[in-house]
Amino acid sequence: MDLSYIINELGEDRALYFNAVAPPILQSSNFASNTVADMRRMLQNEAEEYMYTRGNNPTVTMLEKKLAALEGAEHAIAFGSGIAAVSAAVLSQVKAGDHVVCTKYVYSWTRTLMRRFLPRFGVEVTLVDGTDPENFRKAIKPNTTLIYLESPTSFTFDLQDIEAVTAIAKEHGCSTIIDNSFASPLHQNPLKMGLDLVVHSCTKYIGGHSDAMGGVICGKREVINQIFKREYMTLGAILSPHDAWLLLRGLRTLPVRMERVAASTRQVVDYLVQHPKVEKVLFPFLKDNPQYELAQNQMSNNSGQFSIILKTENIDEVDLFCDSLNHFLMAASWGGHESLIYPIAATYATPDHTSDLPFNLVRFYIGLEDPEYLIKDLEQAFSKLP
Ligand SMILES: *Cc1c(COP(=O)(O)O)cnc(C)c1O
Repeated sequence: MDLSYIINELGEDRALYFNAVAPPILQSSNFASNTVADMRRMLQNEAEEYMYTRGNNPTVTMLEKKLAALEGAEHAIAFGSGIAAVSAAVLSQVKAGDHVVCTKYVYSWTRTLMRRFLPRFGVEVTLVDGTDPENFRKAIKPNTTLIYLESPTSFTFDLQDIEAVTAIAKEHGCSTIIDNSFASPLHQNPLKMGLDLVVHSCTKYIGGHSDAMGGVICGKREVINQIFKREYMTLGAILSPHDAWLLLRGLRTLPVRMERVAASTRQVVDYLVQHPKVEKVLFPFLKDNPQYELAQNQMSNNSGQFSIILKTENIDEVDLFCDSLNHFLMAASWGGHESLIYPIAATYATPDHTSDLPFNLVRFYIGLEDPEYLIKDLEQAFSKLP
């Protein structure tokens, strides 16, 4: 399917709404039936009908159709946040007594789900270094039902070999989920590599403007419909029609935004790699990165995130560098128009700090600004360091 068709036409039927170019926000909680027979039919097949907005809503469906197509999936189901999609996907694949193998350094709340939430319900989790597929094989037990990936992964941006891990999962009859948020559906399509379920935080690249939150699970129709009947309808973490509309609007420009972000990021990384105050840039698309070849094989392009390790022994210098940046906002999240930093040094004061990441790691997200403007800002911040 053509990318332009998916973004601009798929799932839209303007004749239904006065030929309006922008789709309507169907802000209605419920949909009426004309007859008892109609209502009976709807109740029998609620996953495919418009009956109640905690189930389906036409504005949300439009977004789901586009996201499914972008991932090459049969079907997709949207949620009110990325973590709602992650949690529903994981819960759909486990029951008490099961075991999950998960790559470490996953998104922080995914880690909380794995380490604190699932064990309360009798689900055991092993976190492994995902850079070697054999670590997944070694961690598998007779009761392992799920392998969970996030590639590239939060903060370190290391990769898992998706095809190799999928093959190991298939040998052992485990299902597989990947959080594909960092790559975006434009730069990596794991379902085509054999993965079972792909999740995204739509809050990031898909929305792209740091205003709306959402999440999505993409996969086989049968699996998604089962999630609809169980996790989706009972947990109720739905995407509102208005937020679906904002995400649809963001999606219109996803290809141009990703192109700009990818090119600017390379330019900023090239600057940082040679800087004497930078010990290391964690970015799989650098030629001397051990996963460079894997990155080339399973992703079509880089996105806007990477981390740097500042060359310093002193946490005050990390603070000074970060505080000196004028045009990078210091914030969580990423994927919007604005460039961001997230210093690990800021996490050290939190009461249950569990990160084994170094204090001098600073995560970057490169937005839509002129890369020269950003490099100048970095230059003046570096110049403040002793
Ligand atoms: C932000 C993020 C999430 C969670 O998404 P929300 O929309 O904030 O709930 C999940 N995975 C990754 C990789 C993220 O960066």
